[in-house]
Amino acid sequence: MRPLIAGNWKMHGLAAQLREIETMAATVHADPPAADVLICVPATLLSRAAQTAAGRIAIGGEDCHAEVSGAFTGDISADMLKDAGATTVIVGHSERRKSHAETDAVVAAKAGAAQRSGLCTIVCIGETEHQRRAGKALAVCGEQIAGSLPADLARSGTAAIAYEPLWAIGNGHVPTPDQIVEVHEHIRKCLMGIAGAAGAEMRILYGGSVTSDNVREILELANVDGVLIGGASLLAADFDAVLRTLPVRDSSGLR
Ligand code: PEP
Repeated sequence: MRPLIAGNWKMHGLAAQLREIETMAATVHADPPAADVLICVPATLLSRAAQTAAGRIAIGGEDCHAEVSGAFTGDISADMLKDAGATTVIVGHSERRKSHAETDAVVAAKAGAAQRSGLCTIVCIGETEHQRRAGKALAVCGEQIAGSLPADLARSGTAAIAYEPLWAIGNGHVPTPDQIVEVHEHIRKCLMGIAGAAGAEMRILYGGSVTSDNVREILELANVDGVLIGGASLLAADFDAVLRTLPVRDSSGLR
């Protein structure tokens, strides 16, 4: 499966940071990696980021509302993201689940709205440190998939799951390869249970302290079809270093 290398800028970025997108797009254009590349940016930057990226890298949103429009001051619909140039949206990131009290049902409604708007969707799941210590990592991830991923969407070929253990986000603590493989294998089984053959084709991304130092090893693990990167996606120097670890594709294929 062609991997997806996705960045998540979170609440970072002003107009000045568009030059990072410009540099990333130039790198991808000059040396196309054997991967799809996506940067999810704050809504305020979406249309300018999409213009700057000029189709060389995809641009995504970080969240959407479940409704198409209405009296939801400050919220942004999936249609609006698409209209601004997004191809994809992240839903259910742990930071939103925590600070906006988003339940699995809320995440599922947002994922459904994204699908109806024609966006690709990255549905985030992952256990807390406490849940892992209690031996509940697989159960928690299974429940989150069952609750946050509509079956229609799973079958559509437009969704990916991002496994992001909360204890590994933004702190340099990466799970062991065995821990990643165990959870991703479980996620694959859950996806196939929901969507059959389509579940075997769905990308499962790993997220949590991915950098150029560890990305190659992580991408080689079974059922890891890409990565979701926070901190190391903010600067083109760091993100390009991640891309440089991947095989490069020229017009005759991989080299
Ligand atoms: C994230 O926020 O989705 C993330 C994985 O962050 P980081 O790469 O900084 O751990």
